[in-house]
Amino acid sequence: MAQLPHPARAARLVILGRPNVGKSTLFNRICGRRRALVGDEPGMTRDRLYAPAEWMGTRFEVVDTGGMVPSVKELIPGEILRQTRVAIGEAAQLLLVVDSRAGVVPLDEELAQLLRRSGKPLTLVVNKVDSPQSAALAADFHRLGIQHVFPVSAEHGLGVDDLLDHVAAGIGIAGLPSTSGEKEAPTTSHVINVSIIGRPNVGKSTLLNRLLNRERSIVTPLPGTTRDAVDAEVERDGRRFRFIDTAGIRRKGKTHLLAEKLSVIQARQHLERSDVALLMLDATEGVTALDTHIGGYAHESHRSVVVVVNKWDVVAKGSRTIEEHTTRIREQMKYLDYAPIVFISALTGQRLGKLVATIEEVAAARRLRVTTAEMNRFVQRLDFDRASSPGKPLKLYYLTQAGVAPPTFVAFINSTRKLHFSVERFLENRIRRQFGFAGTPIVIRSRASKSRGPGRKKP
Ligand code: GDP
Repeated sequence: MAQLPHPARAARLVILGRPNVGKSTLFNRICGRRRALVGDEPGMTRDRLYAPAEWMGTRFEVVDTGGMVPSVKELIPGEILRQTRVAIGEAAQLLLVVDSRAGVVPLDEELAQLLRRSGKPLTLVVNKVDSPQSAALAADFHRLGIQHVFPVSAEHGLGVDDLLDHVAAGIGIAGLPSTSGEKEAPTTSHVINVSIIGRPNVGKSTLLNRLLNRERSIVTPLPGTTRDAVDAEVERDGRRFRFIDTAGIRRKGKTHLLAEKLSVIQARQHLERSDVALLMLDATEGVTALDTHIGGYAHESHRSVVVVVNKWDVVAKGSRTIEEHTTRIREQMKYLDYAPIVFISALTGQRLGKLVATIEEVAAARRLRVTTAEMNRFVQRLDFDRASSPGKPLKLYYLTQAGVAPPTFVAFINSTRKLHFSVERFLENRIRRQFGFAGTPIVIRSRASKSRGPGRKKP
């Protein structure tokens, strides 16, 4: 599985509020109860809890200030204020939690005022809204003067998804790199996990042997996996490629039927561990039913895919051209329209350099991030009306990239309905046309939004 890059210091989401409003329950809900107690950072108090969290590809750190505002009686205003300021200072976003059943109490008002003045993106979480009927209880809290209000039940998990969408969109925007279309800096430790999948006799073993012989390779037995699941690493220009389960690629079924079944099982297993899948086809046989079957799994796995048409040494002398082959493949594997196609001969080594370059390109595209500024310009120029059906016009307020590997986008729209397939396709095509994303599937989700942007200040 691709590892998402973890920033040196994750953006912090700080949860504040008076005692017993449900901060810790919310904290646990967001972090999936993976609590970590960190006490030795300078300026920190032991009673703050930190935990990593992730929402739709956006990683952040959650801070529960549970112990910071003790009971009102014990308030030592100076100390509380000092600690609150430290926590606010470190925050990328602030969540003020209140109790819907208790109504607005003076301490809520004081905290709201303090947090508003910080100028940090602030969201009000009205907790203990356990049923749609009690949602009305949230209305009273608007007088705290916080623009973004989310009624939730931390206990039952209600409304927390919407809250996290909002939070992650804000963090995603704040945490994006500043230059346009910037690729994540390739680190020396970043290995590209590659699987070679396809039906029997398309030339998987031959290609693997070629690639391993051509480059300096290290064969690494993997602890914890089956005895003969052996990966092989190859280094090229400082880039490391890890071929998944080389023993599996070489393993042959005893009968034709067994071999076919094995090729499907292995494709599924290998996809799970890869960033990039090489879906191999045999040029002399065209696209078979088994090819489309395996190709379907490759697409569904959300891995990046390169279609590798092998045995080109035989075909090149024959009739069909590259264009004709490409048309056939596109027709029969419509879902893999984003996958580049490379024509090779594993036997002669023809175009293997091009194949390796394509793997690199596709691996980089998988981790490409588009900046908010670039995305906003893109949305402004987008002829979105064309995708919108007659009747109530669909509005796209903004689009944000919530994650990489695979690139995931959230479209904030004026509807609670899921985006129609055709609208999703429209957005995907335009994103590809503008930014590239070769070989990788793109995930588009939508969220209803009333506002034009996350984390904005009061109007
Ligand atoms: P696998 O079952 O997918 O691993 O396929 P193999 O690598 O075992 O190859 C099956 C057969 O196709 C072998 O006889 C190979 O020599 C042959 N083969 C593989 N690649 C090529 C190629 O590029 N050109 C030609 N002409 N034959 C190939």
